[in-house]
Amino acid sequence: MKRKGILTVVSGFSGAGKGTVMKALMAEYKDTYALSVSATTRNPRPGEVDGVDYFFRTREEFEQMIADNALIEHACYVGNYYGTPKAYVDEQLEAGKDVILEIEIQGALDVKKRFPDTILIFVTPPDADELKNRLVNRGTEDMATINARLSRASQEAEFMNQYDYIVVNDTVPACVENIHSIIENEHDCASRN
Ligand code: 5GP
Repeated sequence: MKRKGILTVVSGFSGAGKGTVMKALMAEYKDTYALSVSATTRNPRPGEVDGVDYFFRTREEFEQMIADNALIEHACYVGNYYGTPKAYVDEQLEAGKDVILEIEIQGALDVKKRFPDTILIFVTPPDADELKNRLVNRGTEDMATINARLSRASQEAEFMNQYDYIVVNDTVPACVENIHSIIENEHDCASRN
């Protein structure tokens, strides 16, 4: 019997390195996981490609997607909309793939409310100083945006305990393996029930 796909949400503070972890997870296990591509109204960073990193949309286009009920969840993050397109997630889960959403806390908790079987994983950097260093070294945001993201991170810290798992991103390969084994374990539990 084909096993059913599991929905997993991965969140983490901006600068925690979760984008890098997600890319590595997908490279290692591309046949197992489907990574949802979100829609956003923020501007692309250098090198980001429409339809690959995000679906970059205007505010009007995004609001139309909300009105059309085309998003599983959406949230406002540091002045921009972000949301998960519904069709791809439904299609992949039905095909038996494990689907991963890399989204912020508010959206994550909404998804958990709607789909209680969702696994919530929170990725943290080894320490708080590291967070600012990573954001500054990335060099893709100005100081005002970096500070807004850090302030959002301290608000988000209050909700971390609502996640099912917290994974420390010491090294990318270890973090990838941790996430993979969490999802595999959930499959084992689901098949025993
Ligand atoms: P960034 O601008 O750094 O790419 O993303 C900012 C934040 O938005 C990150 O915490 C990221 O996980 C989150 N995010 C990305 N896509 C979505 C989405 O579809 N929905 C929600 N709620 N958050 C998202």
